[in-house]
Amino acid sequence: MPVGSINAPGLVAPLRPAAASGGFDVLVVGAGFAGSVLAERLASQLGLRVLIVDKRTHIGGNAHDRYDDAGLLIHPYGPHIFHTNSADVFDYLSQFTEWRPYQHRVLASVDGQLLPMPINLDTVNRLYGMSLTALQMEEFLASMAEKIERVKTSEDMVVSKVGRDLYNKFFRNYTRKQWGLDPSELDASVTARVPTRCNRDARYFTDTYQAMPRAGYTRMFERMLAHPNIKLMLNTDYREIEHLIPWRHMVYTGPIDSYFHYRHGRLPYRSLRFEHVTLPQERFQEVGTVNYPNDYAYTRITEFKHLTGQAHAQTSVVYEYPCDEGDPYYPVPRPQNAEVYRLYQEEADKLSNVSFVGRLATYKYYNMDQVVAQALATFKRLKGELSANETL
Ligand code: FAD
Ligand code: UDP
Repeated sequence: MPVGSINAPGLVAPLRPAAASGGFDVLVVGAGFAGSVLAERLASQLGLRVLIVDKRTHIGGNAHDRYDDAGLLIHPYGPHIFHTNSADVFDYLSQFTEWRPYQHRVLASVDGQLLPMPINLDTVNRLYGMSLTALQMEEFLASMAEKIERVKTSEDMVVSKVGRDLYNKFFRNYTRKQWGLDPSELDASVTARVPTRCNRDARYFTDTYQAMPRAGYTRMFERMLAHPNIKLMLNTDYREIEHLIPWRHMVYTGPIDSYFHYRHGRLPYRSLRFEHVTLPQERFQEVGTVNYPNDYAYTRITEFKHLTGQAHAQTSVVYEYPCDEGDPYYPVPRPQNAEVYRLYQEEADKLSNVSFVGRLATYKYYNMDQVVAQALATFKRLKGELSANETL
């Protein structure tokens, strides 16, 4: 059988463990969370032979971390803080890492003050020079909020909860900078990620599990992929090898529009330019991240030592500059993009030998834990399908 013919789209190939053919049972494209979780599950639970390829020179996808020249642990693709409410996801990852408890805090630079974000009781009291109680803050917000019948956009989401003044100071310009779009052009789900609180809880997340992999994300990925049935190929676009190396099923975690050669047009993915700076001082800022909604071309500055707990005489920070061109980082949630994605999804659904998983391949603004949950669910489904095939 000529190499490549077993990869024909739509062909349901029976999958049997081990490499009697000399090829691979599964080709996983992308060694981020989506790809690594599936590679690990398919190899360790089903005994399948997995080839995982990534076009970058490292594993971990956007969650990759590394030590910089000064010996500080940094996140080259921006700050990654792990948080989840899912015991399943936390337990699963705990097989590959120990954890360092960490609760992220963010301040927003507004009207010359650094104020807690998400907006809470202290934010409002300090911004307006008031001393409201929690109950009074609820009444205050109710008096500021605009009545909106059907909350559809990111603007609706915020002004219906806190009114226009807080919206203008904390959300409008940050969102325009981050997305290159007005909040009125984005789905409500984008700003809904950031809650409003009438208490003094200043944590960015309130999830049950909030912790960082103690030895870093990359070490955790190394342990996930350290299985004799998993072979890793870096610095390789899957298109360079998909017809050279036999495989039966593909797990694809790159951008879905690229897989289909943009036949329904390009899906917008927002990018970022990261500026990493190492400073000759122990501390740069009071909390992990400071947001700059209204000034500068960058959205936020993050100091990694808060996240990692590393003790070091110097410190490293990252500035995030949003842009259109560059690596795809964020799907852009708005109706016209959902419509284009739907066309790609229909095509994807027709391919029984390719599974699309992860933030880029399913065009979902997912956090790490959601991608892990999605990958575990995909594994469950594949497990059923693969065992059904085996009995054919
Ligand atoms: P990715 O990590 O993007 O992995 C996909 C991989 O596929 C990449 O390594 C890519 O190189 C590879 N690939 C693509 N095309 C090809 C090809 N043709 N051939 C070979 N390889 C290919 N989540 C949180 O939970 N907490 C946070 O604090 C957080 N902060 C974030 C900050 C930023 C700036 C960004 C951008 C994201 C953040 N996230 C955060 C989200 C998190 O990064 C994602 O949920 C997660 O990393 C997605 O994993 P993935 O495997 O789907 O995709
Ligand atoms: N946002 C904002 N001001 C802020 C923080 C967030 O307007 O100070 C909005 C903005 O649109 C942002 C979205 O809320 O893109 C989600 O914020 P989050 O911090 O979750 O973004 P991420 O960490 O995914 O970049």
